[in-house]
Amino acid sequence: MNGYTSRTYVRSCSSLSEDQPKDNSVSDMLVDSFGRLHTYLRISLTERCNLRCQYCMPEDGVELTPRPQLLTKAEILRVANLFVSGGVNKIRLTGGEPTVRKDIEDICLELSNLKGLRTLSMTTNGIALARKLPKLKECGLTSVNISLDTLIPAKFELLTRRRGHEKVMDSINAAIDLGFNPVKVNCVVMRGFNDDEICDFVELTREKPINIRFIEFMPFDGNVWNVKKLVPYTEMMDTVVKRFTSLKRLQDHPTDTAKNFTIDGHQGRVSFITSMTEHFCAGCNRLRLLADGNFKVCLFGPSEVSLRDPLRNGADDRELREIIGAAVKKKKASHAGMFDIAKTANRPMIHIGG
Ligand code: SAM
Ligand code: SF4
Repeated sequence: MNGYTSRTYVRSCSSLSEDQPKDNSVSDMLVDSFGRLHTYLRISLTERCNLRCQYCMPEDGVELTPRPQLLTKAEILRVANLFVSGGVNKIRLTGGEPTVRKDIEDICLELSNLKGLRTLSMTTNGIALARKLPKLKECGLTSVNISLDTLIPAKFELLTRRRGHEKVMDSINAAIDLGFNPVKVNCVVMRGFNDDEICDFVELTREKPINIRFIEFMPFDGNVWNVKKLVPYTEMMDTVVKRFTSLKRLQDHPTDTAKNFTIDGHQGRVSFITSMTEHFCAGCNRLRLLADGNFKVCLFGPSEVSLRDPLRNGADDRELREIIGAAVKKKKASHAGMFDIAKTANRPMIHIGG
């Protein structure tokens, strides 16, 4: 039987996906052998970036895939359409830096018209966002995550090897003014670099409707990860609760990667992304399409399969669905643990997009 037609999925595995919502509109193509439903696709639009963050890429840069080997807008839309018609309801655009792509507005517009898509998000460094955001909103962008790891401009320059702190702050404020709520702010915490700023970031949530998300530092090729630089979430939380004693955990959704908290009197929220010390693989609903058309079922797993090559060789939708479905079925129950991840060859983060 061809499992990748309109046949709907009946969950068979209970151990890993007990908490996942029943969703009969998800095709078998998007269900792995542990019963996890993959309704969230992250699309990396480019390998290029206008920053050079130390935790994301090596100092001497990364080898860029030649342009003809990157997916065109039409190819991205064809693949995205396959996923959305199979049951994906959320797409996040990432990179590299998605806003450096010249056709970003058109891509947003066409993706937002896909029937069944409920959320179109973007993760961006905010350098070029403030002026592009009104148009992106018009084109259907529904939510935005802006990365900012320090509130001190000189430290920003050290970490990103570029200037631009003020532009990122402007983008955060522009997103608030345009009514994105919450505006998510991603902050990778590294011991000895910005762990002394955790409470300053939390303080921002008092007056601004932002969700500060503290992310545990993860190992990727070329980013000189070291366990001593990792600040475990329990330690970050202790730091926060000492000053903000009303910190209260919210009920999370089973597919949430974040542990979410409120603080009395604060407009915004605080979250922790604990990929290293408390992984959330059991509820994982994410798949990744890279800029070169490779399909990746796990952020930390090295295995990838090309969708670009069969697509350019004339594969029809059924064949592409079979390739996607076969890769999803091979997805592992969980990642290998932080020390093994650090030893395993994977791409640099800038190629994967988080
Ligand atoms: N350029 C965009 C940006 O910076 O938001 C999108 C791509 S970036 C790779 C996506 C997210 O991954 C960012 O929030 C970034 O902070 C995060 N990230 C990059 N390297 C990381 C690492 N080693 N550990 C944890 N998060 C990381
Ligand atoms: Fe660029 Fe984002 Fe990586 Fe920084 S984290 S180098 S902004 S892709």
